[in-house]
Amino acid sequence: MNKFIIVLLFLASACANLPSSKTVANCVFPSEEVFPGGVINYEFDSNGINIEDSLYSDNLDFIVCESNKNIVNIIIPIPLSFEKKEVNFGVPGLFSASFPIKERYYRESRIEIKNKDLVNPPSSFNERISKEYALGIKAKQTVSDRKLRNTKMEMPLEGIISSEFGVRRFINNQPRNRHVGLDIAADEGTPVIAPLKGEVIISDEFFYKGNVVYIDHGNGLVSSYSHLSERKVSTGDNVSKGQVLGYVGSTGRVTGPHLHWEISLLGISLDPEIFVNQ
Ligand SMILES: [Zn+2]
Repeated sequence: MNKFIIVLLFLASACANLPSSKTVANCVFPSEEVFPGGVINYEFDSNGINIEDSLYSDNLDFIVCESNKNIVNIIIPIPLSFEKKEVNFGVPGLFSASFPIKERYYRESRIEIKNKDLVNPPSSFNERISKEYALGIKAKQTVSDRKLRNTKMEMPLEGIISSEFGVRRFINNQPRNRHVGLDIAADEGTPVIAPLKGEVIISDEFFYKGNVVYIDHGNGLVSSYSHLSERKVSTGDNVSKGQVLGYVGSTGRVTGPHLHWEISLLGISLDPEIFVNQ
């Protein structure tokens, strides 16, 4: 066998190790949270048929949790921007389902920030900001082959919820992106713990997010922790549930010390509270 073929075989086997399956064994997701920012969790008897290649889902991404040989749960994250009243999904010849999407009220928030450089940063920061934005998007889209079973989370700290997920925000009367995290206000220095085990995929200092940590929990579930005063973990660390990630701070674009906590599944931002309350 010549060296060229050996290299090709090596590359082929390396590619085979990448996560390609959307089917996951024994995972448990929230089941009653069917609104923009929540998930569809649809259980049915697949009769042992592999459905992931033939499942259609209104162009929404999904994972399939296999509880046993026959019973599967289809998990579909619903984007905050989703405006349709239902999601149609199914497998041709096997089943079709129409899942109603509940309406949910998301309030408006209007804040004033005096430091104009933080509201509309000078153009010299543009390159840094777009680079960090791209890193954040890429981190949120991580789908590793890490095994995720129960997604039930602890709160990462004790504090007061100062801004809920989904709030429609205005800064100095300018409309901004929806609030895709949960803000928990607490004293500077309050420890922030990992709500679920995982691997640190980013531990860095960003312009907007300040000191930030991103964790891959497996199977497309990623969380992040922004505005920390100090980070206690590094990129590549494996963290256990309850491990201290850092401390509440006010680094980045903030009006006071708090944690901005985000959860995403397959790159779609979801309300962290549905993972705590399940
Ligand atoms: Zn926030």
